[in-house]
Amino acid sequence: MTKTVRHIVRSMRARDLRQSSRATSTKGADLRLMRELNRLLILNCVRVPGPITRVAVAHRTGLSRTTVGSIVEELLADNLLVEGKTVDAAPTGGRRATLLHFNADAGYVIGIDLGRSHLTLLLTNLAGQIIARRSGPFDASLGPEICLQQVTTRLMEFVAEHQIGWHQIIGVGLGIPGPMDAASRMLLRPPRMPGWDHFDIKTVLERACKVPIYLDNDANMGARGESQYGAGRRVENLAYVKVATGIGCGLIVNGDIYRGSGGAAGELGHVTIDDNGPICDCGNRGCLEAVAGAEAVTLAVTRAMQAANGAQAAHGPLDVADVVQAALAGDKAARDAIERAGYHIGIALAGLVNIFNPSLILLDGSMARSGDLLMEPIRQGIARRSLAASSSTARIELAQLGDNAIALGAVATVIEAAFGPPALATMPAHTGADILMPTAGSS
Ligand SMILES: [Zn+2]
Repeated sequence: MTKTVRHIVRSMRARDLRQSSRATSTKGADLRLMRELNRLLILNCVRVPGPITRVAVAHRTGLSRTTVGSIVEELLADNLLVEGKTVDAAPTGGRRATLLHFNADAGYVIGIDLGRSHLTLLLTNLAGQIIARRSGPFDASLGPEICLQQVTTRLMEFVAEHQIGWHQIIGVGLGIPGPMDAASRMLLRPPRMPGWDHFDIKTVLERACKVPIYLDNDANMGARGESQYGAGRRVENLAYVKVATGIGCGLIVNGDIYRGSGGAAGELGHVTIDDNGPICDCGNRGCLEAVAGAEAVTLAVTRAMQAANGAQAAHGPLDVADVVQAALAGDKAARDAIERAGYHIGIALAGLVNIFNPSLILLDGSMARSGDLLMEPIRQGIARRSLAASSSTARIELAQLGDNAIALGAVATVIEAAFGPPALATMPAHTGADILMPTAGSS
């Protein structure tokens, strides 16, 4: 095969096609573009709902059987579709037909979760099924030049270990903490990450890997991961809240990430909770992150232990995993600190519930490992402080993907850029599935 999966997918990349078709009137769109749109439409028609016959594809898309037949032949030749078992024809008669399957193993995707102190790499197939994972410590405070060199080295090793060629990888998605400019996809003064402000991560990684790179804020990636593969499937309006050293929030509104006008939406951690509270990394005082983030919690427990044991603490520095473990084992100081954090997070989330009225709030991050100890005070705070009209429909649950949520969101971002949102494939023909739907007779 001379064409690689990346070239095939690139030629029909959903995002670019939609832009091209917006720039041209449907009437003026050239035949090649229309054929690419139809290719994508047919591929999605098989990819998302699952195995389907050619006749059913024609029915769903409104394209002629001839067009469907010829495009399916191309997709079979490109290895993006494969033929499955023969099925019987409809009771009304007609020929027996075979089911078409999307070949999720025709290519690969890489998802990266770049945290302030960890780096996680995932290798998946084109359906987001995890093939391999690698995670290790990382120090984002070393600055972007050193860090991106490390990312590239680990990525090259990771891909080589699995005997995969870069030409088989359709893209790399990367989630990273800090507010991100919606247009340039550069970080905007991320706290505790010196040197990363306005650094062009995308260009550096694209030069090194020579595949398309997709960036987003880590909480947005987590929201997308849970919404695609985890607890948020089929939920139109949800908030994904990551409670760790920072407190970030990714919002899915009407099925898509809500970024705000500049890309900084969802900075829940910097909602003021106590105007006389401790100074936050952002420079303000008493932000949620400063009163309820992992550092505030470990500090509260350390102080309680010192008070109980006299001025001398008989232990090394605590981290939040120790506190969560102690709380789950029944330690009173640890439980009190986590419950207090939950109380404050509940105040901030009650405001979010009043404004956004989500049907689901998913909690994730190292502190969420304490489960109901953190969630119960949050539930109570939301119930008490937001209007019943908003809170009565909001479930508060734990996220499901654990340490993979952000990297899987990054994978979902790559897949969506290549093939378009899953909704495209599930819509019946001619009901306005963006501009990708062909008009009658266009085939
Ligand atoms: Zn702040």
